[in-house]
Amino acid sequence: MISEKMMSLGKKRSVIREIFEYGNKRRAEIGAENVFDFSLGNPSIPAPEKVREVMSKLILEKDAVALHGYTSAQGAPNVRKAISDDIKARFGINASPDSIYMTCGAAASLTISLTAIINSGDEVIVLAPFFPEYRVFAEKAGANVKVVKCRESDLQIDFEALEKAITNKTKAIIVNSPNNPSGVVLSEETIIELSRLLNQKSQELGTDIYIIADEPYRELVYGDKVVPYIPNYYDNTLVCYSFSKSLSLPGERIGYIFVPESVKASKDVYAAVCGAGRALGFVCAPSLLQYTVAECLGLTADISIYEKNRNMLFNALSEYGFNVVKPDGAFYLFMKSPESDANAFCEKAKKYELLLVPGDDFGYEGYVRISYCVKPEMIEKSLPAFEKLMNEYR
Ligand code: PLP
Repeated sequence: MISEKMMSLGKKRSVIREIFEYGNKRRAEIGAENVFDFSLGNPSIPAPEKVREVMSKLILEKDAVALHGYTSAQGAPNVRKAISDDIKARFGINASPDSIYMTCGAAASLTISLTAIINSGDEVIVLAPFFPEYRVFAEKAGANVKVVKCRESDLQIDFEALEKAITNKTKAIIVNSPNNPSGVVLSEETIIELSRLLNQKSQELGTDIYIIADEPYRELVYGDKVVPYIPNYYDNTLVCYSFSKSLSLPGERIGYIFVPESVKASKDVYAAVCGAGRALGFVCAPSLLQYTVAECLGLTADISIYEKNRNMLFNALSEYGFNVVKPDGAFYLFMKSPESDANAFCEKAKKYELLLVPGDDFGYEGYVRISYCVKPEMIEKSLPAFEKLMNEYR
């Protein structure tokens, strides 16, 4: 008998994938230029030129056996040193190579971190709207997932609801800012209040509550928005970072976990991270990519196109009468469905070849996600379709 749970996970395609497949069908039928596909969160801008230069140089000049050989399980020491130096310089926080664990992107960072801290029956809080894989990762680690909805007015944390959700079983809360699917950046005020509440609750309950800071979109922010670095506010924070979006390298699978010194018994927690990586088979992240990112720290792909897309879509959709939360980061826009059933709305949108993702899978009904990591020309061409769609609700 195989695992029923894994089989059903494997058979069930995510809603996003379903929509993308539908898009493929429509592209074949009516031509790609006539389908307005806003379903996937795949970066649409190239990696900075330096990434290719560094990779080429490594391939041509570094000893091939060393380049392609296994690194230490937790990552090459010089790479971890470069990353810890970068963290120190950028966030003014102490970091050492032995607090960094190299991973295959944020997905691996999350599964490893959760596995490192969860005992069966612990609870993990996720803040809706949330990246749907959190549930999969947390449950696989043995946790029960509790969903706390963010307040509708600005999608910041609803502290009353959060306080009620925290129990003596609460082991972690996953915080994702800038957020997928809303693009919202949690304010410093929110992070300060979150830290205060978690400290108070940990004391009251005599437990350790971790923040798992899922940060693949950290650098994707617009205007003068600042994304607070959570370890500077809350001691028990594990940072799950990825270069997938900042360097536009999602297919290359590279990221890291940072266990700050401020985490209680941080050396043991780091050991548990190494153990979880080992148990999950996530050791020795791709070596070529480790060496590459170590030389590209501080670089970000040119995100000006995302900003242009955001402005174009936000302005047009607001003008047509849609209720949109203005995103400060990532490349998603979260929009209230003009009818309460977002699935029905997305079906209607298909009539205009607009492919949008209902918010239900993100734990937030009545909303849709629009991924604007697409070509600006597609957005321009899609605007009349959005207007016609809204006219159906007038
Ligand atoms: N976390 C969030 C919020 C994401 O949106 C994604 C990917 O889209 C991930 C984690 C996984 O990222 P990675 O490609 O680095 O595994």
